[in-house]
Amino acid sequence: MAGVCFRSVLVTGANRGIGLGLVQHLLALPNPPEWVFATCRDPKGQRAQELQKLASKHPNLVIVPLEVTDPASIKAAAASVGERLKGSGLNLLINNAGVLNANTLETETLKDMLHVYTTNTIAPLLLSQAFLPLLKKAAQESPGSGMSCSKAAIVNISSIGGSISSLTGWDVMELVSYRCSKAAQNMLTRCQSMGYREHGILCVALHPGWVQTDMGNVAGRTPPLTVDASVGGMLKVLSNLSEKDSGAFLDWEGNVVAW
Ligand code: NDP
Repeated sequence: MAGVCFRSVLVTGANRGIGLGLVQHLLALPNPPEWVFATCRDPKGQRAQELQKLASKHPNLVIVPLEVTDPASIKAAAASVGERLKGSGLNLLINNAGVLNANTLETETLKDMLHVYTTNTIAPLLLSQAFLPLLKKAAQESPGSGMSCSKAAIVNISSIGGSISSLTGWDVMELVSYRCSKAAQNMLTRCQSMGYREHGILCVALHPGWVQTDMGNVAGRTPPLTVDASVGGMLKVLSNLSEKDSGAFLDWEGNVVAW
C-alpha cells in the first residue's frame, strides 16, 4: 500500500467504531492524505473526544459536523469541505455511518424500519449526490483513463447481512430492517456504478467483516475481527481496486460477496 495515495478522503460516522478506525489508519499511512474529513454528529461533544485528540496532532484532519439523515446538514458539510479543498476535488467518499436495530419479523415497526432505511440507504444516496461535483472534479484532475480510489471513488460500507443469497446469521439474529437496508444499499451501489462510470468515479460495496464495535457486539458474542484488522484489510483492498471492480460487492479481504 506504500505507493498509494488517497489525496483527500471523507469518512462518515467517524467518531467511533469502524469510521474512527478508518481515520486513524489513514492518518498513519506512510503517505497520508492531504485532507481527511471525519464527520460526526457533534464534533465538540463527548462522543467526539477521540477525534478531537487526533485533530490536535494532525493538521490534515478536519472534523465536519454531519447528521446523515438531514439534507440541510449534508448540504452544509459539502459546502464546508468544498471551501477547505479550495478548488480541488474530493477523491474518496466513504459512506460508513450506519445503524442496526435488533427487531425481528414480528417486532419490526414502520418507525424503526424507516429510521434504518433512511440512515443506511437514503443517506449514502444523498451524500453521493451532494459530493458528486467534488468527486467529478477529482476524477478530472487525475491523469489517465482508468478508475481507482486515489482518483475518485464512492465506497458504501455494506454488510454480508444484506446478502439475499446467503442470509448469513439468520439463526442468530433476524435483523429484518438492517438486512433490507443493506440489500437496498447494495442496489444503490450498482446503480451508482452505472451512472457515475462516465464521470470516472469507481463505486463499490464493502463488507468490513464481523467487527468488535458497538454494532458488532450487539449479538452478545465477541466478533472475531478487531477494528484494526478490518480497517487494515479494507484499506489494502481499496488501494488495489480498478475499473473492473466498480459495482462489485467485496469483503475486507477482497473476496467477492454473493449478492
Ligand atoms: P458503530 O455503531 O460502532 O458506529 C456507527 C457510527 O455511525 C457512529 O459513528 C454513529 O455516530 C454513526 N451514525 C449513526 N447514525 C448516524 C446519523 N444519523 N448521522 C451521523 N452519524 C451516524 O458501527 P460500526 O462502526 O460497527 O459500523 C460502521 C459501518 O459498518 C455501518 O455501516 C455498519 O452497518 C457496517 N458493518 C459493521 C459490522 C460490524 O460487525 N461492526 C458488520 C457489517 C457491516 P454516533 O456516535 O453519533 O451514534
